[in-house]
Amino acid sequence: MLTLETLQAFIQAYAARLAELCTVLDDLDNRIGDGDHGTNMARGFRTAADRITGETFADLGALCQAVAMALLASVGGASGPLYATAFMRFAQSWKDCTNVDFGQVATGVANACEGLRARGKAEVGEKTLLDVWTPASEALAAQPDEYGMRAAVARATKAALASRDIPATKGRAAYLGERSVGTCDPGSISSAVFFEELADATVG
Ligand code: ADP
Ligand code: MG
Ligand code: MG
Repeated sequence: MLTLETLQAFIQAYAARLAELCTVLDDLDNRIGDGDHGTNMARGFRTAADRITGETFADLGALCQAVAMALLASVGGASGPLYATAFMRFAQSWKDCTNVDFGQVATGVANACEGLRARGKAEVGEKTLLDVWTPASEALAAQPDEYGMRAAVARATKAALASRDIPATKGRAAYLGERSVGTCDPGSISSAVFFEELADATVG
């Protein structure tokens, strides 16, 4: 289950994980992109976490909308509008709800995944964060409970590591094509951590 409190705690926890992983994610992006993925994500979610701290929100929709706006305002790279899109889809999915069950979390994640696909014009297998969101979303839809949430994390982690062997055909890494093989997609790694923290917040 996800409540106003656990969603706020999730944003704080994810921002803290991104701060820890900032250098690792920048290093990965340095190999196949422009070296800023960790910096972008850490800055974006720190801004979002700070913006929601001490604020009260009427429902999960308003909270997710505030996160989306903070990400849009603070991240210039591809990941800013992509994660903002995911949170706008969460906001639509959980409008007027102060808490949602795993079925509604699954619907929100599926809608977010669809939003990411539309926004990035990517398909699975192009070495983008969609490679992680898609199997995680499918696992949760297949079993919308705490076991499904844990299965989603397992699928997400596996996909993030498997991104190493895929040649990029979308995003900056596509300029390298086959030479992007051998490096994990930074956005896939940060997305796997997103699902880890979402599971910790919801399974509790
Ligand atoms: P930028 O590439 O603008 O510097 P970031 O480094 O913050 O932005 O984010 C890069 C990540 O964004 C990639 O690792 C990839 O997972 C994701 N990404 C890039 N382009 C797309 C796209 N078209 N669709 C989905 N995800 C994408
Ligand atoms: Mg980058
Ligand atoms: Mg950049």
